[in-house]
Amino acid sequence: MKDYYTILGVPHNASQDDIKKAFHKLAHQYHPDKSGGSEEKFKEVNEAYQVLSDEKKRTHYDRYGSGSVGGGSGVEWDFSNSGQGFEGFDIGDIFGDMFGFGGSPAGSHANRQTPRGRDIAMDIELPFKEAAFGAQRAVLLRKTGACTSCKGNGREPGTKTKPCVSCNGSGSVHETHRSFFGTFTKLRACSVCRAMGEVPLEPCRACRGEGVLQVSEEISITIPPGLQDGEMIKLVGKGEATAGGYAGDLYVKVHVLGDKRFNRSGYDITTPLDVTVTEALLGAAKQLEILDGSIHVQVPPSTQSGSLLRIRGKGIPRPRGGRGDLLIHIVVKPPHKLSKKAKQLLEELQKEGI
Ligand SMILES: [Zn+2]
Ligand SMILES: [Zn+2]
Repeated sequence: MKDYYTILGVPHNASQDDIKKAFHKLAHQYHPDKSGGSEEKFKEVNEAYQVLSDEKKRTHYDRYGSGSVGGGSGVEWDFSNSGQGFEGFDIGDIFGDMFGFGGSPAGSHANRQTPRGRDIAMDIELPFKEAAFGAQRAVLLRKTGACTSCKGNGREPGTKTKPCVSCNGSGSVHETHRSFFGTFTKLRACSVCRAMGEVPLEPCRACRGEGVLQVSEEISITIPPGLQDGEMIKLVGKGEATAGGYAGDLYVKVHVLGDKRFNRSGYDITTPLDVTVTEALLGAAKQLEILDGSIHVQVPPSTQSGSLLRIRGKGIPRPRGGRGDLLIHIVVKPPHKLSKKAKQLLEELQKEGI
């Protein structure tokens, strides 16, 4: 059975303050990103701390031992996850400052952050029909892009490099920090050579050695069918480039333009169909423009104004196949003026109770 007090090197009656201090000291000593660190020891120290720093768990542990704490599964610990160490405890908070791996996208053992270019957000407008069936758009984007001449390394093609003087060719520099827990040495990426350890003898002429430059890039955007107004498409790596790092992402917000003939509700669409009084009474065969082409609609006799005819599978395409329905909204339009004859005929009808 593990003795958490021994692991942290504190007596059984240690105060929370003592436990915390002991933990910080040992966590620092064993941190896997440090030379002489040990992931094994670090986990052990953390496990001990998680139990002893929690009065409830500590009492339980004092009484029953370590096997009974935390439902028997012990402490979950995952280094591949940047920041979130274990339940309720953010390593990034404490160690991010000291070791500089707080928000590293690569996570894990990287003790310097890989830079990431900025994300770009843009808007595009789409007509109703194109949004329904999907579309292809090409946009010209002015942004910071990787230099194609030097492929981002900042060196004039065909020329040599020399070791970076700033970091002695190691790519990283030591920075000393003083903090509450003592003095720490932090390894930081060399900004002069961008962690490459070498600098070009002749900087790239196209980008003046920056590795990046302003470019106009044509980007093809595939808009899937059925997108709703305001939905976002993410294009990974199509944002701005940064020297020696990842490009950001491009976010495209799609604005679907309205169409006065079609009203969308989920994947169903409603469209109006005007019929005359006699068509509504006697029934009629009508031709109706829909999203894709036109269809033949049989209006049944004695159709009420406002009634809906449902045509299955003629609505908006669904992401997983199939389509919503088309709802035809019948609008009975009485004539604005009646001819003398029409009036006479209607008066005849009126006598029939119609
Ligand atoms: Zn270049
Ligand atoms: Zn350097």
